[in-house]
Amino acid sequence: MSKVVKFGGSSLADAAQFQKVGEIIRGDEERRYVVPSAPGRRFPKDTKVTDMLYACYGEAEKGGDFLPKLDQIRTRYQEIIEGLKLQISLDKEFAEMEEQFRKGAGSDYAASRGEYLNGIVMAAYLGYEFVDAAEVIRFKDNGEFDPQETNTLLAKRLKGCSHAVIPGFYGTTKEGKVKTFSRGGSDITGSLVAKAVKADVYENWTDVSGVLIADPRIIDNPKGIETITYRELRELSYMGFTVLHEDAIFPVRQEGIPINIRNTNSPEENGTWIVGSTCQKSKYVITGIAGKKGFCAINIEKDMMNSEIGFGRKVLQAFEENGISFEHMPSGIDTLTVFVHQDEFMHKEQKVVAGLHRLADPDSIDIESDLALIAVVGRGMRATRGTAGRIFSALAHNNVNVRMIDQGSSELNIIIGVADEDFETAIKAIYDIFVITRI
Ligand code: ASP
Repeated sequence: MSKVVKFGGSSLADAAQFQKVGEIIRGDEERRYVVPSAPGRRFPKDTKVTDMLYACYGEAEKGGDFLPKLDQIRTRYQEIIEGLKLQISLDKEFAEMEEQFRKGAGSDYAASRGEYLNGIVMAAYLGYEFVDAAEVIRFKDNGEFDPQETNTLLAKRLKGCSHAVIPGFYGTTKEGKVKTFSRGGSDITGSLVAKAVKADVYENWTDVSGVLIADPRIIDNPKGIETITYRELRELSYMGFTVLHEDAIFPVRQEGIPINIRNTNSPEENGTWIVGSTCQKSKYVITGIAGKKGFCAINIEKDMMNSEIGFGRKVLQAFEENGISFEHMPSGIDTLTVFVHQDEFMHKEQKVVAGLHRLADPDSIDIESDLALIAVVGRGMRATRGTAGRIFSALAHNNVNVRMIDQGSSELNIIIGVADEDFETAIKAIYDIFVITRI
């Protein structure tokens, strides 16, 4: 059995956090492959080391004096090393960084050093082997990630290695040029390592006790989700849930490896399990609620639309020609509505309207703005009678006018359109009916 454990920046922000991580890892001998992020914030107004590195490199690029900034970064690591009473020095690494910054090694190189240095410290602290991500995470020359080559390299390198620390977030091209994933990309490294070693579980340790049913900025102390499927998570992430880096799901999902989101500050809690499929019923019929504001609805009317073959295509072409993707497209017999992001649509509005007239020749076009979309997601909905009824009666009781309803064909979600100003009330009403009063 082996577990891959990834720790986020706040879990490794200082020596005290490192000690918690050390206890977690030593508490389970199956936790054999460790993927650290760079040190994150120690307190709300603190700066993450990754951001310090970007700023430091920006200074170097301008030809400015970047050494004071580099020293501040050095101090962050020095405090961790001293706090853990380790007998290591990062002088050599910092000298190399200084030289590379002067040579213009690139901002990806600069940012990657946060994880690189943290990996060295972590390996020394745990007594695990340090495996540089530069050796095993491969990018193509055009900058795209290379999943096949990475899997081969990782599997080969870790085969003879029973315990290792592999820093997250970066890799290199064949020529050795450092490339990073997008922000939060250590999640992806953890997932790639889990796939390569065929881990039994990918534990992703962070500073929250798993995935919450709803946004804590809207609902006070929302309940956590015990088990969620990848597909449910995808629906919720699309609507604004931020749990894991989106690209972290695919590698483990392919292998059927579950992800367990855990809290470094409350390791006794079970967190959330993200799985391929499950017969575990979710506690509340719905698994989660998420939503976003700032949508526009373009209502298009044309008599006998239903019998005009190709009408939908012509409508969508007007959006495509303007580079706008659509979110939802509910339709009636002679009406069709296209939901788009307001900020993408606003400045192209008249071009799209002209395109619609030219391509689809509608009788009328009417545009509504400031709409919000809410996704109520749950694998349990398919087997439960009256879910939609409960949602809409809760909304009616709270005076929320529903502007659009769309139930995905998978019956995994119901999407509801409401006015932006009703967004919070609607989410509270839905949460209340399913989680609190459960009527
Ligand atoms: N350190 C990087 C960031 O701040 C990557 C990560 O933490 O996953 O985005």
